[in-house]
Order: sequence, then C-alpha cells, then structure tokens
Amino acid sequence: MVRWFVGWLVCQRGFLHRADGYSTIELTNYPTNQPSNDQTLHMYILVTNDDGVTAPGLLALKRALQTLGNVIVVAPDRNWTASGHTKTMHKPLRVDQTTLRDGSPAYTTDGAPSDCVALVMLGLLPEKPALVVSGINPGSNLAHDLTYSGTVAAAMEGAINNVPSMAISVDGKNRDQIDFAPTAEFAVRLAQRMLTNGLPQDTFLNVNVPEIPLEQMRGVRITRLGKRIYRDALVERQDPTGKSYYWIGGEPPSGVIEEEGTDVWAVAHHFVSITPVHMDLTSHALIAPLKAWEDEIQLSSPASVVSRTDH
Ligand code: MN
Repeated sequence: MVRWFVGWLVCQRGFLHRADGYSTIELTNYPTNQPSNDQTLHMYILVTNDDGVTAPGLLALKRALQTLGNVIVVAPDRNWTASGHTKTMHKPLRVDQTTLRDGSPAYTTDGAPSDCVALVMLGLLPEKPALVVSGINPGSNLAHDLTYSGTVAAAMEGAINNVPSMAISVDGKNRDQIDFAPTAEFAVRLAQRMLTNGLPQDTFLNVNVPEIPLEQMRGVRITRLGKRIYRDALVERQDPTGKSYYWIGGEPPSGVIEEEGTDVWAVAHHFVSITPVHMDLTSHALIAPLKAWEDEIQLSSPASVVSRTDH
C-alpha cells in the first residue's frame, strides 16, 4: 500500500517528453492498481468509456477487472455518449491525471473515447494493453446503435490496433439507478477468456447485459445484430432573438424483439448478448447483384483500365 502510494505521488509529475515530440509516461510511474517497482509495464487492461471518467459504470468495471491484473483507466473528461468513432485532428489533446472515487489514479483526456484508445496505442503508455474494455455503458448498445455509440467506437479503435477489445453495456431503464455489479462480474469472466484466447484480427465483441441479478439471467447467447426502431422526434424551439433551433428528442428506441438470435432478442429475453463484430462493413451479399450495374455505370474512357494493366 505504501509503495503504491509513493508510486502514485511520483506519478503526479510523471510525463516525460520524448525527442520525437510525443509525451510518454515514465515506466515506473504509470498509475495502476498494483504496487510495482518494475522497470517494465507488464500486462495491463485498458479501461475506457464514453460517459466520462466520473461515471459509476467505469468505476465498477475497473474495480472488477483489477482482480485479473493491472488496470489502467484512460477516459474522457466529459460525456461523449452517441459521439460515434471520432479521430480528433483539428485540435491538440490534453491528458491529465485524476483520481477515481475509490482513490485510485486514472488518466483523463479532452478527447473522445476512441481518442483515449488511440493515445495509448500511439505511445502515451510505453506498451500496448493486452485487452481494451469499454464501458460499462448505462443503456444498451444494440443493432444500429453501434454506428452511434462512443462505447463501441473505443472497442473499434482497439480492434484497429490489433488488441482484443470489447464494449460492454447494461440494458438499464433508469440510468441513475443502475446496479452495475452483475455486468461487471460478467465482464471479468469474458475478459479472462479473451486474455487466454485472443480474438481474430479486425474483430471485437459487443456485449449487452440485462439489468437483473446474474442468477436470474437465462444464460449467454452469441448473437447477430438485430434491428433497432428509433423513435426520435425533432423538437423545434426559438431562441431569445426569435431564431429557430432544434433538439433531436423523442422516446428511447425500441427494437424488433421477435427475431430470435439477434442481440435485441437476447437482451429482451434476459440473455447476456455477445455479438462478434467485424470491421469489414462490406455487404458481401450485395456484391453479386451490383455487378449487373457495372456495364451501365462504367467509366466511358477505357484509359483507367489501360493504366491499371500497365502497372
Ligand atoms: Mn454512454
């Protein structure tokens, strides 16, 4: 405990500037939950989220995963829910050290969830993590939600960098009163398996857990993405000068719960849903039918064909 505390004190001034302009963190000073005087950063799990570094779901996840080993938290300094897959290129990114509510150290950035993962992969920490876990998001990320979700985007960034990654969400209805414990417990079981088995390239796992005690869950299902039904509504109001502004409001989304085997079906029927997601967004089924369009929309000049065969 004392060694850990000294380490944490030292890491208050832990940033070093590298000759190439990047900042990295002194090997001995990285803030993990484990006391260590080692010169190398051993296996660690990177935890991030899209709700911000103060979110209770993040803390529950971090505390559960640290039973497996070192956990390092790098999370946004604010809520980025529904921010999608962001790469911040138009402004600098700041990284600060902070303390979670349990007193443990963490890093926080003014970037998006995917930026947090990218920062680590590009050298903020001296080694890549063994696993990226993003969550626990208060609210499910199902079906088309994957295209909006910042939680999922962080896992995508992990997959792009060839690190086994998962996004994990709990299907809570009342976001202020969610019990994250069962989901955190399940995250540990799955993380253990991922650390042992890894994942194929360009894939990650999207996990959704019903908000009920573990013993009441009906089991785990490997699923495919289902269909969301969005109930968004455009709300138009006027600012004090009389100019209109808009909110995207409406009811929370529902989904097609009858389609067995989907993530939407699984969670609605009290199963834990694990969807393996591939970064290849190609519609393979549409390639053959679209071939019929090729002649019709072909470029008129054959030059492009000639230049390609000339290479
Ligand atoms: Mn969120």
